[in-house]
Amino acid sequence: MKKCDIEGCQYKTRVTFHRKSGQNLCDTHRQQLIKYGKVFERTRATRNEIINCGEFAEIILYRKNNTPHNVRAVIDAGDIERCRNHKWSLVNKPKNRTLYAFSKIDGKTIYLHQYILGTYGKGKYVQVDHIDGNGLMCSRGNLRVCTQQQNIYHQVRLRKDNKSGILGVSFDNKNKKWISQLAIKGKNVHMKYFDTKEEAAQSRRDAELFYFGEFCPNTDINKGLGVD
Ligand SMILES: [Zn+2]
Repeated sequence: MKKCDIEGCQYKTRVTFHRKSGQNLCDTHRQQLIKYGKVFERTRATRNEIINCGEFAEIILYRKNNTPHNVRAVIDAGDIERCRNHKWSLVNKPKNRTLYAFSKIDGKTIYLHQYILGTYGKGKYVQVDHIDGNGLMCSRGNLRVCTQQQNIYHQVRLRKDNKSGILGVSFDNKNKKWISQLAIKGKNVHMKYFDTKEEAAQSRRDAELFYFGEFCPNTDINKGLGVD
């Protein structure tokens, strides 16, 4: 049986002679050559390339067919050696509106942030939260262990029907006032009326800080609206 000429090829696909390149190629590598004009000398088992940037490092993530994404996960340089032991892939979690890196370890899906902090296998109540909301930023300074409820608060995003552009702030047409609201587990714990949107926004923010402390919803979405 013919063997694929690409070094380290582990694909189990059919191997045929590729006249144009003068090589024996498996179907997978042949497809890459046709589609991308080159072959990627990687297999499903090949570990990620990790670029050491000094303090931090970038793990290059690959697609299922082993062509590189333009997507990288960031870790501390001190975690490079541990992360090298596994193959990291990309997963999109539209519900959380972010991407994550994961690996299959002993048949289980382990996320990079869980791996870094060693929280996997401890049940769903021990969770890791990304402070900046970006699931690929897995430097220890951006990760913190939290409860499931704290994580839910932190992942709060603007609803599609939000018209004010600010979390928990809406205009009450009946009273012609701005309402500042905060609900926890479906119960309103904070509700005040204001003349201006800015006051309502600041009031909502103060309530968030009071109830959630450091696990406030991400504030980036409110940026530029004069709210701290
Ligand atoms: Zn091959």
